Amino acid sequence: MRTLVRFLSTVSESQKFIDWKRVRFIGGRGGDGCSSFRREAHVPRGGPDGGNGGSGGAIWLKACGNTRDLSSLKQPQYKGENGERGKGSNCHGRDGKDFILTVPVGTVVKDNGCFLSDMDSNKEMYCVVRGGRGGRGNASYLSNKNRAPRFFTPGSLGDEKVLELELKTIADIGLVGFPNAGKSTLLRAISNAKPKVAAYPFTTLNPHIGMVQYWDPPAQVAVADIPGLIPGAHQNKGLGHAFLRHIERCRGLLYVIDASSDDPRDHYYQLKHELEQYKVGLSRRPAAIVANKIDLLKNVLNLTLGNDCPVCAVSGMRGQNIEQLLTVIKRLAQPQLFA
Ligand code: GDP
Ligand code: MG
Repeated sequence: MRTLVRFLSTVSESQKFIDWKRVRFIGGRGGDGCSSFRREAHVPRGGPDGGNGGSGGAIWLKACGNTRDLSSLKQPQYKGENGERGKGSNCHGRDGKDFILTVPVGTVVKDNGCFLSDMDSNKEMYCVVRGGRGGRGNASYLSNKNRAPRFFTPGSLGDEKVLELELKTIADIGLVGFPNAGKSTLLRAISNAKPKVAAYPFTTLNPHIGMVQYWDPPAQVAVADIPGLIPGAHQNKGLGHAFLRHIERCRGLLYVIDASSDDPRDHYYQLKHELEQYKVGLSRRPAAIVANKIDLLKNVLNLTLGNDCPVCAVSGMRGQNIEQLLTVIKRLAQPQLFA
């Protein structure tokens, strides 16, 4: 088994990771209809020839696999292009162009907390607001009763909505653990991602995703390093739930625990407690325990951890037992292969 080094996380830690935004979207206004009469030499009573207005442009969101977070939505408000007004000589106004905004895959669209759309596949499109309809020109009101209508209708306004966009990272496996347990180190060891590693808490401020490549059979598993979990995070301590939402979508979880700490078993139960407090059922996801930093232990066999899921003792820094960890990850991500 080889791990392919593919570099995904090129963005520096200092750049802020935006995973929540409230934005106002306004559809383009429809163009007004036109009131006009054909006037030409030698054409007496040419009749009405005012064209219709064009319809206003809509606004679409498009999920894009290359977009990392919601920081590309810089404006507090986006407006679709207005439709052009109709003109004489039966010229209809041009339609306003649709506006397409790219968002990362995994963006959930909500209106005042009500779910509207989950953009969970690449290139998925969602129309957030429609443009207004174009007004009718007087030519369209021509009838046998009224041979010379002067009236026209104005274009209607586009929809207007204030929506919340929430990014929930989609990864197969989530690395959960308290600060300094070695999550970033492990992600570096198994994948192409390069999260910062240092011996102080909150080094990693953004979720990182690394792709782990398997060759036999060929498969890719996305593993996310989810930072900032501390006891009390569910009550918004530390970075709070800012990042817990990224765990929700993971199929399997790896509890990363510093095995050299005083009571690693207690860490495991605290982690589970945090997840369960955040969302009921989260702690019952398929999971495995990764006892990290075994290079600091004299006797690995003394290690006692939870007995409700498999334990894998590794050293992310020394690269000890990483192959075994890769097998565990594969089993969690693709249980059908091991059924
Ligand atoms: P994170 O906060 O969970 O992402 O932890 P980091 O990956 O940033 O690691 C925190 C500290 O633990 C760093 O100083 C690492 O060098 C150290 N560390 C990580 N893994 C190991 C390991 O397997 N053995 C030892 N001895 N130290 C480790
Ligand atoms: Mg880290």
